[in-house]
Amino acid sequence: MGMDIDFERSQITLSIIIPIYNEEDNLNCLLKRVIKSLEIPNLSYEIICVNDGSCDKSLEKLISYHRQNPAIKIINLSRNFGKDIALSAGLDFACGAAVIPLDADLQDPPELIAALVEKWREGYDVVYGTRRDRRGETWLKRFSATHFYRLIGRVSKVPIPEDTGDFRLMDRRVVEAIKQLPERNRFMKGLFAWVGYRQIAIDYDRDPRYAGQSKWNYWKLWNFALDGIAAFSSLPLKVWSYVGLVISSMALVYAVFLVIRTLIFGIDVPGYASLMVAVLFLGGIQLISLGVIGEYLGRVYEEVKGRPLYLVRDLYGFEDQGNDGQVSPLSQSGGEAL
Ligand code: UDP
Ligand code: MG
Repeated sequence: MGMDIDFERSQITLSIIIPIYNEEDNLNCLLKRVIKSLEIPNLSYEIICVNDGSCDKSLEKLISYHRQNPAIKIINLSRNFGKDIALSAGLDFACGAAVIPLDADLQDPPELIAALVEKWREGYDVVYGTRRDRRGETWLKRFSATHFYRLIGRVSKVPIPEDTGDFRLMDRRVVEAIKQLPERNRFMKGLFAWVGYRQIAIDYDRDPRYAGQSKWNYWKLWNFALDGIAAFSSLPLKVWSYVGLVISSMALVYAVFLVIRTLIFGIDVPGYASLMVAVLFLGGIQLISLGVIGEYLGRVYEEVKGRPLYLVRDLYGFEDQGNDGQVSPLSQSGGEAL
């Protein structure tokens, strides 16, 4: 490992993948800290920055950094596709023997890379960081995150480690496994867990965002949570059979009770309130169950359309994979072509 440094692209030891969406104020500090942290003996590296349709000066800055240091490579996507897809684009182009995705906002300390690499060299396939502390995040975000991880841990068929983000080191064989997963709904935490392999956790403190604002709001987080649950559990679909069973049994018992009461005491007409409650309650339950089916059906539709996951506009620094800085026909569609 690392004997013929930079001898050939395929001999790169470590690929760092950074998804970037409007992070102009973070880039300078980020790249300095990352490059410093990569001064590890016998380690050649590439830093793949995936520009996810930024509308600030991020791309211009990246290009000038790439000119200064060719180890910094850029994938410029055709628009904003979202972090998980940007990360997938990075994985498709990375050629290191190990890969580490990193947030551009310095929430994941680059100084931890050495520790990840050390564990990898001990023979683990996946070394993931578990957050000991979420500094700089609001109470509500911490609360919802904890409960989300608990819930998905309960309903998912594969165990998804709690408080684990995308910050992790993956061996090449894990990357190849993840690249084989064709789904469009890329709930990365789940996919990383699904592939398995020899995994080990190391604890770290998550720092507050360095500059700029988080792109997440509660509505997006809620939908992210729904995506995760829909992708890793079909429990919400199944539960309705049981709810239906319980309600029909109760209705049957009540019907028997009514028949007997009518036989003994004769007919009594009042019952408007109970009727109304029963109708509305059942109507509500049916709409909820339809909604749940709709959530899954919508996702099935997204998958079935089979559009490419992302489109690449330009590549910088991937000479053997496309033209430097040019729009090449080859680089039009991601994933499959390359
Ligand atoms: N990001 C991205 N595309 C998006 C949103 C975010 O590539 O549509 C990147 C962003 O630039 C950052 C990382 O994903 O590097 C994490 O984003 P953010 O800090 O907003 O998420 P949080 O840390 O709050 O989960
Ligand atoms: Mg962040």
